[in-house]
Amino acid sequence: SGRWARAMAILREFEEKCGTPIGKLRQVADAMTVEMHAGLASEGGSKLKMLISYVDNLPTGDEQGLFYALDLGGTNFRVLRVQLGGKERRVIKQEFTEVSIPPPLMVASSSELFDFIAEELAKFVATEGEDFHLAPGRQRELGFTFSFPVKQLSIASGTLIRWTKGFSIEDAVDQDVVAELTKAMERKGVDMRVAALVNDTIGTLAGGRYINNDVIAAVILGTGTNAAYVERANAIPKWHGLLPKSGEMVINMEWGNFRSAHLPVTEYDHALDVESLNVGEQIFEKIISGMYLGDIVRRVLCRMAEEAAFFGDVVPPKLKVPFILRTPEMSAMHHDTSSDLRVVGSKLKDILGISNTSLKTRKAVVELCNIVAARGARLSAAGIMGILKKLGRDTVKDGDKPQKTVIAMDGGLFEHYTKFSECLESTLKELLGDEVAENIVVEHANDGSGIGAALLAASHSQYP
Ligand code: ADP
Ligand code: MG
Repeated sequence: SGRWARAMAILREFEEKCGTPIGKLRQVADAMTVEMHAGLASEGGSKLKMLISYVDNLPTGDEQGLFYALDLGGTNFRVLRVQLGGKERRVIKQEFTEVSIPPPLMVASSSELFDFIAEELAKFVATEGEDFHLAPGRQRELGFTFSFPVKQLSIASGTLIRWTKGFSIEDAVDQDVVAELTKAMERKGVDMRVAALVNDTIGTLAGGRYINNDVIAAVILGTGTNAAYVERANAIPKWHGLLPKSGEMVINMEWGNFRSAHLPVTEYDHALDVESLNVGEQIFEKIISGMYLGDIVRRVLCRMAEEAAFFGDVVPPKLKVPFILRTPEMSAMHHDTSSDLRVVGSKLKDILGISNTSLKTRKAVVELCNIVAARGARLSAAGIMGILKKLGRDTVKDGDKPQKTVIAMDGGLFEHYTKFSECLESTLKELLGDEVAENIVVEHANDGSGIGAALLAASHSQYP
């Protein structure tokens, strides 16, 4: 019928605009490399902030003692404690708890948010058992993973540049987040010192390195997206401090804010951006990360409903509700293997109030999910390719013994959206070619970030 043809025309046009042929991905990767250079050259030299982390040493395995970590950066926050036993005994014991952040606190005041966190931390510390040992006379120490753009001032201080991922707390911007947390801990009677302030990418990099010495970069694909990697300190022109002994410095790219004329951005992405809390920012993130993928799908479906009566004469009202279709739901539909696509049918019904969908309609929805996920996954691979190029690890060097390269990956999107992560991995192979790809692995670092932050707290402890 005419309606079906019109709906398919909308879908096809969207598919075309989302296209990521290999040539385009190479342009994106090259643009990423160029922006990395620019961001390292000068402050404000690029959309990529290329933030200096003050982490110039990654874990060695020698770390010992009891350390805490706190991870704030999305919908949940986690508190963790770990007893480290050095080279031989490694992680002796670890425990964690996860708490979801009440949405009102994400847009309240700095002290309300940090009081809530400090209170949860206090409860967790109160449950510390006999298996954990704090050396006598010592204060507990904490690695704070704070996954928003921070201008780092030292290993244990830094000011918030801006919020992302749905957080918006005006009075916290430009404040030292460690000072804010420390004040809240004092108010709540928690005797603990923040020894390291990192973000999830750096935590994941540290946690990944602890397990595998070949880890040189970390990428997070969760609610948001970001990457960090180990740079040569003398390749950072904007760094005017002393060169670290290691000769290395971990860089927090804040790649979610990457943008390039080569990115396939559609009118739906544009609309999503304009209606977001951070208009014009985090464009790469808005195309590839978990917070947004489901909503892109919803927007296209909404257009198909409005202009082609895709779901019948009435536009289902719920289709107009921003973020009603979440990425885990999209993923569930995309992975539906039943012959009648009954998961798709029930999700459309339960989430969007659309019942009695035909198999043909369900198939189109799955196709739409695939278009959106594949674009995100392929662009993520291009971003990784950009990092490998910057490090000169995108080619095989003649005569050298092949060097292994491991990228530690984490985040709910990478972990749970199988079609996304498989597409990312196959695209990276496609970009690298078989020979180079043999020595480059992306590896899921399961919650390396928490342990990583605790390890960095250990290596930056106030006690010798
Ligand atoms: P955060 O990024 O908030 O720190 P996570 O790394 O756990 O936390 O990522 C959570 C995000 O991962 C969710 O917001 C969602 O977008 C995505 N996600 C979680 N589960 C799934 C799933 N089953 N399929 C697809 N995406 C998922
Ligand atoms: Mg996280």
